[in-house]
This record gives sequence, C-alpha cells and structure tokens, in this order.
Amino acid sequence: MIVTSKKTNEEILAALGDAKTAFIAGCGSCAYKCSNSDEKSVLAVKDFLEQNGITVLGAANIDSACDMRLVKRDLLRNENFKNADAVLVLSCGAGVQSIESASQKVVIPALNSSYIGTTEKIGVYKKFCSACGTCVLGLTGGICPKTRCAKSLVNGPCGGFVNGKCETDQNKDCAWVLIYEKLKKTGKLQQFLTFYCEPKK
Ligand code: SF4
Ligand code: SF4
Repeated sequence: MIVTSKKTNEEILAALGDAKTAFIAGCGSCAYKCSNSDEKSVLAVKDFLEQNGITVLGAANIDSACDMRLVKRDLLRNENFKNADAVLVLSCGAGVQSIESASQKVVIPALNSSYIGTTEKIGVYKKFCSACGTCVLGLTGGICPKTRCAKSLVNGPCGGFVNGKCETDQNKDCAWVLIYEKLKKTGKLQQFLTFYCEPKK
C-alpha cells in the first residue's frame, strides 16, 4: 500500500489559491486504509474549506483513485465535479494525477505520499519498498536492502550493527543481518556471498 500523511490545512489553503469552489475526491484504497480519506477526514477538510470561504460543491470516494477507469466512471459525469474551480484529492500522487489526466481539472493534493509499506496494525505502517524498478527480493530473502537498510546499502552491511540492530537506530533491526539470517535459514547462504547488485538510485 502507498502510505500517506495529511498536509496541513494551511498548505491546502495556499495551494487552492483563489479557487472559490471545490470538489473533494477521496480514494477508497490505500489512503482510506491510512485513515486519510475516510468520512471523518473528508468532513474535517470540508468544514475547514467552508470556514475559509470556499464552497464545497460535493465529495465522492473513488474505489481506487489511481485507476483512471474508475475516475472516469465515478467523476466525469458528476456536475458538481465539473463545475468546481478545483478538486481537492485525498489520495497518493498517482491518484491525484489520474484525476488530472482524466479530467484536466485543477487538482490539489491533500496528502503527501510517503512510501510503499505494510500495515502492521491501523496507524502503524512499515516502509518496505522504494519502488526502485529493479527488485532484488528474490536474492535477498524477501527483505529489501534499498529500503530497510538505513544507508540503502545493496551489497552487504556497513559493519556497524550491534547485536543485530542498526547502528543508526538501536530499535531497528539491521536489514543485512535479517537478510543473512533468512538466507542461512533457507539454505541459500551462498547467495549472500555471491550477491552483487548495481547501485540503486
Ligand atoms: S528492491 Fe526494494 S525498493 Fe526495489 S522494488 Fe524490490 S522491494 Fe522495492
Ligand atoms: S547497521 Fe545494517 S541497516 Fe544499519 S546502516 Fe549498517 S547495514 Fe544498514
């Protein structure tokens, strides 16, 4: 899932500029699971906009804002959407751009896209992928060195770990210790010794 966080009201207001009317478009997938586009979030942002003189013409939640087919199906025929000066989007950056691309409307992100992560429990997410484009999980025991090593080292540890913990944060496991242990447990330690990965950007 794409983990998001809310922008401040002040940031949203500044981005809306001189818009007099707005439509709020939420995403029913990742942003919703992060409690950033649920009913409470939509109502909170709606109240804030109206308190600041912006009329909210309507709101809609799309099952997945990043799916342009759903954007076209659920938004493009909505008169309130069409008439709004700007669309405030509660989704990741892909959702914002999907709505822009399908409608050519002025779109304003209400959220920041932080990372691709897993949900441990509601409100607790772990950054597990940086979408580098050349996945090496098949060689690293299913543990991402680019994302889970504090220095993004992709060819082995820095050597600073203590008792399996990262030298930059004693509360975090060293990713390379995890990789080593996993490969050892699954009989693939040879992989650890021969592994080479081109530096990732
Ligand atoms: S190597 Fe890591 S950052 Fe790259 S695609 Fe795989 S999980 Fe994502
Ligand atoms: S201690 Fe481990 S996780 Fe931390 S920076 Fe070094 S190799 Fe990366």
